[in-house]
Amino acid sequence: MNHFELESLLRRLEELPAVNRGDGSEYPDFSESLLEVLEVIAREQPEWAARVQLIKDGASKSANTWLDGYLDADGNGEQDELLDFAIKHTLRRYWKSQGQKLQDGPETAECPNCGAQIDVAYIDQDGFRHAVCAICDSEWGIPRILCPWCGEKDAKNLVYYPYEQGYRLYHCKSCGRALPTADLREAGKLDLPKLRAAAIEMTFLLESGAVEE
Ligand SMILES: [Zn+2]
Ligand SMILES: [Zn+2]
Repeated sequence: MNHFELESLLRRLEELPAVNRGDGSEYPDFSESLLEVLEVIAREQPEWAARVQLIKDGASKSANTWLDGYLDADGNGEQDELLDFAIKHTLRRYWKSQGQKLQDGPETAECPNCGAQIDVAYIDQDGFRHAVCAICDSEWGIPRILCPWCGEKDAKNLVYYPYEQGYRLYHCKSCGRALPTADLREAGKLDLPKLRAAAIEMTFLLESGAVEE
């Protein structure tokens, strides 16, 4: 089994050109930008093509409603999983190159740059942990023993599950959230598409009950 099955899809999505966000909080031409993302998904994952087609059929009418639903739920909503995935990668195009390395980041999961939530983290060569925003890739340091969602600091409630070498899933037993993490002392240089491919896989394994401490 290839543990980084979606890596190539995530790399192709990164290659899509940036879209100009304009001057406000709006996302101009959102449905067009979403359709381009959907085309890449259908090309890279042919087995999803039928589901992608359904979304495409509704996109010109509903894209902005879907976007509002996604933003209201902080990207953690009840919409179709594939739709949420496509919206996330469309939003990333608007925030491309606007990510920052923040000196004083919060000890929470909310990005001070774009307001989205973090989705992954990494541990640097010196053993410090950094959170990475799901949408703009801004990053900032957060303590190793801390759940950025609920603030849990008790190590016995913060467990992790090893995955491929250098990749692991931190899981907070207090709130149930999971933080996929690369340890660069083992994984080498930070590779976000690879980490996010591992993240999807690790989260799936956790949710299906296939992992043990
Ligand atoms: Zn951000
Ligand atoms: Zn928690």
